[in-house]
Amino acid sequence: MELSDLGEFSLIDRISVGCLIRPSDVTAGIGDDCAVVPIDKGRSLLLTTDMLIEDIHFWKQDIIPELLGRKSLAVNISDIAAMGGIPKDAVLSLGLPVRTDLVYIDRFYDGIKSIAGEFSINILGGDTVKSPDRLVINIALTGEAPSDEILYRSGAKEGDIIFITGFPGNSSAGLNLLDSGRDFEAKDELFEFHLNPRPQYRQGRIIAESKLASSLIDISDGLLADLGHICRASSVGAIVRRADVPIGSLLQAYCEKYNLDPLDFALGGGEDYILLGTVPEKSSDILKGLLEKDGFAYFPIGTITCDLGTKLGNPDGSRSAIDPSGYDHFK
Ligand code: ADP
Ligand code: MG
Repeated sequence: MELSDLGEFSLIDRISVGCLIRPSDVTAGIGDDCAVVPIDKGRSLLLTTDMLIEDIHFWKQDIIPELLGRKSLAVNISDIAAMGGIPKDAVLSLGLPVRTDLVYIDRFYDGIKSIAGEFSINILGGDTVKSPDRLVINIALTGEAPSDEILYRSGAKEGDIIFITGFPGNSSAGLNLLDSGRDFEAKDELFEFHLNPRPQYRQGRIIAESKLASSLIDISDGLLADLGHICRASSVGAIVRRADVPIGSLLQAYCEKYNLDPLDFALGGGEDYILLGTVPEKSSDILKGLLEKDGFAYFPIGTITCDLGTKLGNPDGSRSAIDPSGYDHFK
């Protein structure tokens, strides 16, 4: 059997057997946005890592090195936000082809340092090695949170409201615009969603401090795929109401211009780095109020069910089963 038969997520399940040699030291290992390790005084350490490879995750002609640096750290900050944590310290490793321009590396680090400054993150180390012909970037980031505020993928319950904290689909529409070479008046604004994502750290902290939500994840694979991760971890299903999925004005305009369906981007597209979570129905309006008070978005888009699988609720009341396929690296 080959990797492509198994896929990324089954591979991770297979790898995870026997990984915890000291299970009593760990609250959560493989399977969430971050690992969680208790430290003293009711606080926990969060740990996450992400790798970006040239010509798989980014193309040098599409993204300037400063933004590549920012995005490399942003995707890790987003995983800390998805647990409700505070980002702290990073190590950054690079695989570099020998002919890499030094100015490119300096500019990449300018980007890293700019976002590190914004989120108060120290870069504490890393590794630098030769790579055959592609740039490889790996960052590991720690975070911290009060242990009783941390939000996992596994807490969703039947009847909970499914919410998102922004407009989904903008990043994948930006990528689609980049790939297609099409013309669009607000090109740069749509590119910005894809090339310079803003991790929702403050929203994550508001949700965590409220202790109202039952689960949380960041949208990296796509809304339905990441909702699928919550459902699988929580052993529940979901109904997403088609009409309640918010569509941003730029995505709407781009789709109207090229006769595309905005829901394809909103439900299937990845890399939005907004938060997706669940909250008991009685607390949904309170959470909405807390986020909106600080100027952040909150959209209820569906309900958690006891039947496994994800369904789309249509405006006529019918329901259609959907394939929650997001991005799988090996399929
Ligand atoms: P995210 O999209 O939030 O970054 P991933 O889908 O990359 O999460 O990873 C899901 C879980 O699998 C995480 O807990 C991650 O740490 C773990 N994981 C991914 N790859 C490996 C690996 N090669 N070995 C061990 N754990 C892994
Ligand atoms: Mg994540």
